[in-house]
Amino acid sequence: MQIPFVSFLPMEKELDQELRNAFERVYSRSWYILGEEDKVFEQAFASYLGVNNCVGVGNGLDALVLALRALKIGPGDEVIVPSNTYIASVLAISYAGAIPVLVEPDIDTFNINPHLIESAVTGKTKAIMPVHLYGQACDMDPIMNIADKHGLFVIEDCAQAHGATYKGKKVGTFGNAAGFSFYPGKNLGALGDSGAVVTDNDELASEIRALSNYGSDYKYHHILKGVNSRMDEMQAAFLSVKLPHLDRMNHERRRIADMYSSKINNPKVILPAVNPECVPVWHIYGVRCEDRDALENFLKERGIGTNKHYPTPIHLQEAYKDLAIPEGALPIAEKISKTELSLPIYYGMTDEEIQYVIDSVNEF
Ligand SMILES: *Cc1c(COP(=O)(O)O)cnc(C)c1O
Repeated sequence: MQIPFVSFLPMEKELDQELRNAFERVYSRSWYILGEEDKVFEQAFASYLGVNNCVGVGNGLDALVLALRALKIGPGDEVIVPSNTYIASVLAISYAGAIPVLVEPDIDTFNINPHLIESAVTGKTKAIMPVHLYGQACDMDPIMNIADKHGLFVIEDCAQAHGATYKGKKVGTFGNAAGFSFYPGKNLGALGDSGAVVTDNDELASEIRALSNYGSDYKYHHILKGVNSRMDEMQAAFLSVKLPHLDRMNHERRRIADMYSSKINNPKVILPAVNPECVPVWHIYGVRCEDRDALENFLKERGIGTNKHYPTPIHLQEAYKDLAIPEGALPIAEKISKTELSLPIYYGMTDEEIQYVIDSVNEF
């Protein structure tokens, strides 16, 4: 049996006609940037989350950069971010001109360990950027308490967690602002690059909207040195097709993850832990194994695609050698990078395929 790490086919087959209709609608209108489709999607996504404002932007990285810039976080400021994340979270801090301060995750949930945050706070710390990694919400109560106590902003990176909840509340609604990515492989994905910032703060939303459109508040009037990072009409139209299916498709990912968690019983394989306060959306189902590369090859020989999130931690990437964090300094992130393996998980996996992955992992 051949099972890819990820496939969009079942979803695209189901939504085929709706997506083609969306294309037709935009194409026949001949209006491609900042129009009706953006407005409709922004409103729908804001109301899905229960926030006041959604600003469509070009991608998830820009969403985070623009949120930081609008909060006036820049040169000389420090931002706390997990040591185990996709590099975009950290790059956003660098692009804003600020200094990323890496804090270790909890090895069982893979998310930032709130107990380690406070000792990383200095006089320069301006914000915390929790990343709801692999689709599971961070432990937000202690994070918000630390932020309140020290007067820090919280910018949530929700790129992997559309629809995930903590104590019944959706991620993206806890901090001052949150960035979402709609990269095709995310739980809510466009058919190209796209992203959004959400916030309850109207003033902040206007600032982000201006920054994303050349710093302009109205045409040819520039109040800020902004960038060009807007959600285009075509992507907004595709996202409006997919949003009403998000909860159902997340539910399906949970069904697959629950089957993995209840039926994988190989003592060599450590299953991901879930904080009981969270309902995860399983962007990634990551297991850990001391013999990770052997497990990867074993599954590959059986036709099962896997992935590693992430094979090299940020502090050991060449791009971040200026942080001067030596190997061994962030042992949890390093351990995850050496032991994590992501199993296939996507909407439309059949029971037979799920069972085949389970049996194969158990045979290892
Ligand atoms: C995908 C991702 C981003 C960046 O999103 P893009 O749309 O690819 O720019 C940021 N943070 C995390 C955790 C991601 O997974």
